[in-house]
Amino acid sequence: MSAIALVLPGLFGAAAPASQQPADDEPFVYSPDPVLVDEVMAQLPPRDDTVATDVHVQRENADKWAFGTVVQVAPEEPERHPDGWLWLAWAEGDRWRVALEGSPQFARVSDDAPVLTEPEQEVLGTTGYGGSAPLATDFRTGMRLPYAVGQQWRYTGGPHPMSGTVRSSIDLAGGDGRVLAAADGYAYTMCPSETGWIRVVHGRGFATDYYHLEDNIVVYGSAVAEGDYIGMIGNDVSCGGSSTGPHVHFSLRRDGEYVPIDGYNLGKWVIGAGAANYQGFARHGSTRVDVGGVLHNHGALALDEGVVDTFGPGELNRRGGPGAEHEIVGSVADGATVTIECSARGSDHTGRDRTTNVWHRLGDGGWVSAAYVWTGAPDPLTRWC
Ligand SMILES: [Zn+2]
Repeated sequence: MSAIALVLPGLFGAAAPASQQPADDEPFVYSPDPVLVDEVMAQLPPRDDTVATDVHVQRENADKWAFGTVVQVAPEEPERHPDGWLWLAWAEGDRWRVALEGSPQFARVSDDAPVLTEPEQEVLGTTGYGGSAPLATDFRTGMRLPYAVGQQWRYTGGPHPMSGTVRSSIDLAGGDGRVLAAADGYAYTMCPSETGWIRVVHGRGFATDYYHLEDNIVVYGSAVAEGDYIGMIGNDVSCGGSSTGPHVHFSLRRDGEYVPIDGYNLGKWVIGAGAANYQGFARHGSTRVDVGGVLHNHGALALDEGVVDTFGPGELNRRGGPGAEHEIVGSVADGATVTIECSARGSDHTGRDRTTNVWHRLGDGGWVSAAYVWTGAPDPLTRWC
């Protein structure tokens, strides 16, 4: 139960009363403070195609702290998408102060906001949305594709925007249609209809959005585990946009903002952007699948793992030490997952993306050239040996 103020253009601040039931208290009639609604709306970036702005007060306490979501609803037209944020508000004197998800203030205030649970303080605060320093060089997500491991779904849309121009999102369809959490996190319903759009905030600054869902969970901060049911693929356009067939629009966010999904790993596939929106590919080892093909969900790549990419046919030699002069002790197949214990310098090799003299010592004691292992992060992935 929650309070929703759906603000239409020209009806700024017109808030309909609704009821809210705090977890440990009696029901009471609740109407969001129109001043609070105004203050949340004042934080939003200007946008000229918004058909309505929904300010949703999920929680409020007696000390005048509040927490909720806000969505800019888009027109129901192709290539239009809503935008949405979590927000925190607190009273200073007789006025509301509001911090919007993605602002440095939101992370700082989240650290000890009394309207957040301790786990939420962790993922939304400065240890989660802690800053974008690793953004440029660390593409590890620790996420699976958002469906059952082992299923093959159609990759129906390459990188394209949610809102704005950042190509944060891909479209997926098929399989059993059950959309599952890509990683552990805390889940929030975004649209006033309570259908269509779920956001899950994970650790390490990441969040994922799932849109066009039907029969979705209705959640206001509930914990979800990797693989938990989120909803069914669908055509819901409660918050705007369009859908021409049941699918999930899956978006990647980092530090409270949409980020280009190109280069990140999901289900052991590295997502690649094409020349235009909705074009693109995904790569698992040397296997490339273009939009229109199917993606086998290999499950999440752990932060200390890599995927062997032999950069062509063949297998990768495992050697007894860090360099081509060491004896061959076995091999690893293209696309195999390897656990990297530590790294050292050895002979130079050239793989798909780079030339490097770094070698990785694997969990089985063998050594492979880092040129042929996708990890998504700079060397050493774990530590120098
Ligand atoms: Zn989409």
